[in-house]
Amino acid sequence: MEAIRVHEFGGPEVLKLDGVPDLQPGEGQVLVRIRAAGVNPVETYIRSGAYANKPNLPYTPGSDAGGEVVAVGPGVTRFQAGDRVYISGSLTGTYAEQALCKEAQVHHLPGPISFEQGAALGVPYGTAYRGLFQRGLAKAGETLLVHGASGGVGTAALQLARAAGLVVIGTASTDGGLKLVRDEGAHHVLNHSTEGYLDELMQLTEGRGVDLILEMLANKNLGKDLTVLAKKGRVVVIGSRGTVEINPRDTMSREADIRGLTLMSASEQEYLQMHAALVAGLESGTLCPVIGQEIPLAEAARAHVEVMKPSGAHGKIVLLP
Ligand code: NAP
Repeated sequence: MEAIRVHEFGGPEVLKLDGVPDLQPGEGQVLVRIRAAGVNPVETYIRSGAYANKPNLPYTPGSDAGGEVVAVGPGVTRFQAGDRVYISGSLTGTYAEQALCKEAQVHHLPGPISFEQGAALGVPYGTAYRGLFQRGLAKAGETLLVHGASGGVGTAALQLARAAGLVVIGTASTDGGLKLVRDEGAHHVLNHSTEGYLDELMQLTEGRGVDLILEMLANKNLGKDLTVLAKKGRVVVIGSRGTVEINPRDTMSREADIRGLTLMSASEQEYLQMHAALVAGLESGTLCPVIGQEIPLAEAARAHVEVMKPSGAHGKIVLLP
């Protein structure tokens, strides 16, 4: 089969299409034919060699995909050949025609959800769910700011938060992104590239501020976030690409919390909760992943350039084998 292989860490050009041996499922493993693979920013950090947990070289990137079960190994009980599934994590990487997974990394894909949408679930929806409920402790009736709502994690957070009964404010910077944020369920939409948009947020909340912020670019926004939190407010740091100065005093009278998040730190129990909730949302129709771009697998390098553009994300980038 063909797969993208990284033989040395470096720029997007190190992503090369190679022929690799076919895979066979072992005990407790599921072999999945990949119809679409999700591209996440973290895969660019790993590819560059800058990420703390480096894979052994050579490796195939990717953890998310939608596809069909080809074969199952001994002891697998939940799947059989032909099942439509999405993958959240794999043993061999998902930028490929096939991937080998542990049974627990595979989830049934409800009928109306396409393979491309299945590829948009694992990291973005898992992160949004963890940010809202496991780290952010979101409750119905609270007010949420999704700071960077037009990308993969942001659109997932909008859908999850609307279904859970929060009042949702989302930000983006382009006309397309602002429309997407409105279409995906934000009650109010703000432009994070304009002066004074957080003053507008304070007016929208009648001076009270928001209970919860999901922050996609903390190095730019964390200091300001602390000034627009309500009492007992929480900021969940999901994305950050540098350092930032904050005034600790802004946390004191509010008794505010800054809470970090890493999806990979979810416990087995939290992972099971996350995917039970996601499958239920897909089945009920409250969750419907938005695909931004479809790119052939052989052009994975271009996908890595696109996913790191500073602005203009309109949903998820997926690779098609
Ligand atoms: P994405 O699809 O590329 O989306 C990026 C988002 O950031 C867009 O909505 C973009 O909005 C927004 N943005 C750009 N400038 C901004 C600003 N000044 N203020 C607020 N938002 C801004 O990326 P993603 O997959 O959603 O991931 C978002 C971030 O979370 C990335 O840094 C990623 O590495 C990180 N992440 C972390 C974890 C974890 O485990 N901690 C998991 C998943 C993702 P416009 O394009 O409209 O400007």
